[in-house]
Amino acid sequence: MRKVIFNSSEAMLEAKRCLSCKNPSCEKGCPIGNHIRDFIKALKDDNLALAEKIVFDNSNLAFICSLVCPHEKNCIGNCILNHKKMPINVGALEAYITSNTKLKAPEIIENGKRVAIVGAGPAGINAAIELRKSGYSVTIYDAFKHIGGVMSYGIPEYRIDRKALLRLEALVNDYKIHLKLNTFLKEEDILKLKEGYDKVVIAVGLTKSRDLGIGESKRIIKASTLLREYNNISKLTPSDLRYILAYISFPQKFWKLSRDYYKNITKCNKKAFLNLLQKSNDKTYFQVKFVQEILPRIESEYGVKL
Ligand code: SF4
Repeated sequence: MRKVIFNSSEAMLEAKRCLSCKNPSCEKGCPIGNHIRDFIKALKDDNLALAEKIVFDNSNLAFICSLVCPHEKNCIGNCILNHKKMPINVGALEAYITSNTKLKAPEIIENGKRVAIVGAGPAGINAAIELRKSGYSVTIYDAFKHIGGVMSYGIPEYRIDRKALLRLEALVNDYKIHLKLNTFLKEEDILKLKEGYDKVVIAVGLTKSRDLGIGESKRIIKASTLLREYNNISKLTPSDLRYILAYISFPQKFWKLSRDYYKNITKCNKKAFLNLLQKSNDKTYFQVKFVQEILPRIESEYGVKL
């Protein structure tokens, strides 16, 4: 399994494998145009400070992207070394580079203008940081009680270390970005914002789930809804069990192990749920189509009605 983050000696070994290609195909696969070859070269030269600068000059949220980007499809998937041996694990290198960086706002010269941003997800926060760098006073509105949007509510803890979200909060504070959380804005509220601000940025992001095309059922709750609800509650209730089971597929191997997990799940605590998610496999959970086969099996095997 691919490492998510390297330690310093692993990072150096991996960086030394990089060919520093003249036309780095890894960069063609990066949707935000990271200067991958150059930050790996800086690592190879044992210049971590330069590597950090190259990474953060191009991406304010590199410490998050390094953890959650689909690297296999992007940089890693496009590395030239896929044709020979193992591709360079760009994500784990980026995670190493960004994991200890002291995230700090630069000196800001205020320009007296005000901007409202609707949505405290990655797009809203990135826009806010860029605007602060140019001296705008920025206020972000969000319906939820924490910043981060999909990073806080849509990605399970095993994919994104909560420490990364704490770093994000600290960064937002350091940039002196004003927050109005727990504030749901209707269309007319957004229109009214135009009266109090010089500009309004709408960055509402991925709040809607994709339609799975498998029809409607009370037992089918969309993945983003489940994750949002889960991340919003500290203790799962018995009815949440229905959601969990509805969202986790039980491939044959996993099913054989699932009796123990089931006992844990019925305790309905956060730890058990996370354990379960960790032991399932990325490609298989959230495959709702299994629900109709799985639920009856669980009900008959355990004598429960879900
Ligand atoms: S394509 Fe692979 S080998 Fe070439 S610069 Fe990018 S990471 Fe290095």
